[in-house]
Amino acid sequence: MKIYRNFFVAICLLSVFSFAIYSQDLTQKLINRANQTTPMMSDLEELCDTIGGRPTGSPACNRAVAWGVAKFKSIGVDSVTAESFDVPNLWLPESAEAIVISPEKFSIQIVSSPYSPSTANKGFITAKLVNAGEGSEEDFAKLGASARGAIALVKSNEMKTLDDLFGEYFRNQPLMAAAKKAGVAALLLQSTRPRGLLYRHPVTMGEAFAPMPIATVSREHGARLARLLETNKKVTLSLKIANKTGGVYQSQNVVAEIRGSEKPDEIILIGAHLDSWDLGTGANDNGVNVALVIDAARAIKSLGIKPKRTIRFVLFTGEEQGMWGSAGYVKTHAKELEKHVATAIFDIGSGKITGFFLNGREDLRSPTETILSSVGKFENPLDGIDGTDNFDFLLSGVPNLVANQDAIPYLPDYHAASDVFEMVDQKEAQRNAMIASVLVWGLAQTPMLPIKRQTRSEVEKLLVDTKLDEQMKAFNQWTQWTSGKRGVNR
Ligand SMILES: [Zn+2]
Repeated sequence: MKIYRNFFVAICLLSVFSFAIYSQDLTQKLINRANQTTPMMSDLEELCDTIGGRPTGSPACNRAVAWGVAKFKSIGVDSVTAESFDVPNLWLPESAEAIVISPEKFSIQIVSSPYSPSTANKGFITAKLVNAGEGSEEDFAKLGASARGAIALVKSNEMKTLDDLFGEYFRNQPLMAAAKKAGVAALLLQSTRPRGLLYRHPVTMGEAFAPMPIATVSREHGARLARLLETNKKVTLSLKIANKTGGVYQSQNVVAEIRGSEKPDEIILIGAHLDSWDLGTGANDNGVNVALVIDAARAIKSLGIKPKRTIRFVLFTGEEQGMWGSAGYVKTHAKELEKHVATAIFDIGSGKITGFFLNGREDLRSPTETILSSVGKFENPLDGIDGTDNFDFLLSGVPNLVANQDAIPYLPDYHAASDVFEMVDQKEAQRNAMIASVLVWGLAQTPMLPIKRQTRSEVEKLLVDTKLDEQMKAFNQWTQWTSGKRGVNR
């Protein structure tokens, strides 16, 4: 009997041991892909160069959705669909021109800001230029009656860090309110980036249009205008901004799936946004991470074995307009959210992944760190992120991760004409794709999950603890939460 029991234990241990070896082998297979040639970069090149810039609502964005569907089909996933959702307002750029009339005639480089209205009848307005300093309420108050009907120039500091970039967004609401109160006809915001670089700087999150036409003016041309105002006192400018605008419309997310073998109703979601702004070709923001999500599907298919949980690969659109694609996904899949075990979002270009934001969920740390231990050491901050597609999952109580990445090369070309294929760090991007595949495979296999989905009061506490409530107020999102329009309702 004793012998028999020992034999039984030995067999059991052997099978546990061989399973551990087997699962290590699978992870190692994913890790090895970082040094192999994969189709990831040719996918990205195709998306950037053939389709190019793809703002949501544009024909290019619709072509990108069809491209994404075809990619997943070619990989042989179990299913792929294009799911529709609502975007509250259409905004697409047409043209923007600025010409100084006096003291001398010359052109000024500008681009219109997303969710800026057009100038009247999409024609020229001619008005005097005033210097509104940094655009604070006091700056506009100082201008007094002279601001009424004028085009106001607003100075910006040079952007060097992600915090500076967030600062530019935080400024929007108070700046537009002060400008409206002062009665200005239009705003010219100085570019935060030198050497003539222009970029799309959205001034609302798409739920409303700006109260006046707004454009970004090149840093050097803005500085020249400011100097002219100082010395000449009187500068007259003609400005024409034409945008295509409209009300609510539908866009689509690409949703692909590899179904789980043991717990098919439990879902791990990996996502990145497919839409981009139009001046560049959306390479670091966020084509490279679209290619990463597609490559993660390819990597997991290459294992030749099904994950235990279902893995959903999602390419969102409507992100740049206010994360409307992920908001729409959460609405469409409301009944399934209970079974969304974890989500992981990638949206900081091709910089090295240094860890994952836990978005206020300390209980996600241990499973995440255990899974990633096979790849290396990562720092996983508890911070909450508002500004990419994890956000509606966070508001819905679903455990969510956002890859934290080195800000270079993402930041200098953010939303700019220079966000193009050749600026992508290919080596790091391919390593990031490996990390993503190990993470998502691990999340689908681990017995350390699921962890709890949060209730509304728990989410509210998380928002306050992580100070996300302050950011939501600055981004005009807070009332969407308090009114129950966005987020968990139980
Ligand atoms: Zn992005």
